[in-house]
Amino acid sequence: MHCTQIISPKTIDISIEVGYHFQKALPSKMWQGDHTIMKKVVKFGGSSLASAKQFKKVGEIIRADKSRRFVVPSAPGKRNDRDEKVTDMLYACYDAASEGRSYKKILEKIRGRYDEIIEGLGLNLNLDHEFAGMEENFLAKAGKDYAASRGEYLNGIVMAHYLGYEFIDAAEVIFFDEQGNFEAELTNRELSERLSHVERAVIPGFYGSRPDGSVKTFSRGGSDVTGSIVARAVHADLYENWTDVSGFLVADPRIVDNPEVIETITYRELRELSYMGASVLHEDAIFPVRKEGIPINIRNTNRPEDRGTLIVETTCRRPLHTITGVAGKKGFCAINIEKAMMNTEVGFGRKVLSVFEQSGISFEHMPSGIDTMTIFVHQSEFEDHEQSVIAGIHRAVSPDVVELESDLALVAVVGRGMRANQGTAGRVFSALAHARVNVKMIDQGSSEWNIIIGVKNDDFEKAIRAIYDIFVLADL
Ligand code: ASP
Repeated sequence: MHCTQIISPKTIDISIEVGYHFQKALPSKMWQGDHTIMKKVVKFGGSSLASAKQFKKVGEIIRADKSRRFVVPSAPGKRNDRDEKVTDMLYACYDAASEGRSYKKILEKIRGRYDEIIEGLGLNLNLDHEFAGMEENFLAKAGKDYAASRGEYLNGIVMAHYLGYEFIDAAEVIFFDEQGNFEAELTNRELSERLSHVERAVIPGFYGSRPDGSVKTFSRGGSDVTGSIVARAVHADLYENWTDVSGFLVADPRIVDNPEVIETITYRELRELSYMGASVLHEDAIFPVRKEGIPINIRNTNRPEDRGTLIVETTCRRPLHTITGVAGKKGFCAINIEKAMMNTEVGFGRKVLSVFEQSGISFEHMPSGIDTMTIFVHQSEFEDHEQSVIAGIHRAVSPDVVELESDLALVAVVGRGMRANQGTAGRVFSALAHARVNVKMIDQGSSEWNIIIGVKNDDFEKAIRAIYDIFVLADL
């Protein structure tokens, strides 16, 4: 891949900071060779803050780099496989309290989680007042969102105390409208203004407030979104998202043994792989930082020496392999429609799709031939509407044949490097043939950085392994 980049003398190599070699231009007044002037937003997930031991690791990470100025914590997560997340306990506690069932035990358990952290860190902090207010609000039915948000709120207080950073309640700076839609621009303005006067702060993740002051949360895992919003508001140089894995993996570790970590991935590639089930980051966390061109670095709190995955808008960095990642999902159904001279019939596709629309079914892929058209849908969504959709298609376009094929899986081979390499599709299909996987459908995006392949559910794992082997193992 060839890439021309004009690098002015006033550039720094932020690889020193993030372990990556890419250049980022800085305004001249910032060029003093002093890295403390950089701004990083660091978000820590629940498993990174599940105990005092984990908090200490987080403290070390933050103190190791002065530019880690804005911290977004999640609620304490699981300490082991049998443990419960504080957020889940809060939902359960609220349900019990608001329905008049006994809730004291679970509330005590929640309190115990925080006290254990506070004691383990040796902090002089008492949450009596916070818990009393919380209990009162639970009984007054302050709402599920309020209840769930307390996990982050309390962890934010503990974290701010531990670090000596200012605590900023997210309800004061993150806004939703009456309907509960996130108010991106209003939030950005207010948060920017508030944080411009603050050197270092902790802003709890996951929630904000409606115009009437009531608390509203993002969907589960939403602290990732808060981190991204804060990064945008402070024009951060980097958004570090600390979790319990060392980044995005090239393939699902439940299918491939010890898959490689992806070093650098673009937002588009990430979107494609996340859609196909590879999940490390909340989907909505991409938009705020993408607007500002701020990279996200996924890091592992338990292995801070690992460089993790860098997510960028675009990059000159040559990918390690031709593909960036391979992911997929099972449980699709294909509806094949055949009609002679279909290609000459204006409006054919629209009429077919409107049948699906009327049944409230969204389609996933739509490969077509000269006289054939295939619609891929989620089998679970489609099953209940199957016969009415088939009847609708008959009425709408009088096809010669309509056939269903169920129990299919889609596999996405994704990579910006595919465009520059010849024979990628050939390698994919010879690997699949070699593994005796029957390919049911091929759909290559015109941008040439993804190929979607339909296979039988039973062949799914075999297909993923074959593709990983040919592009990653054979490449090493
Ligand atoms: N604590 C919330 C959850 O469990 C939000 C988050 O962790 O990001 O979903």
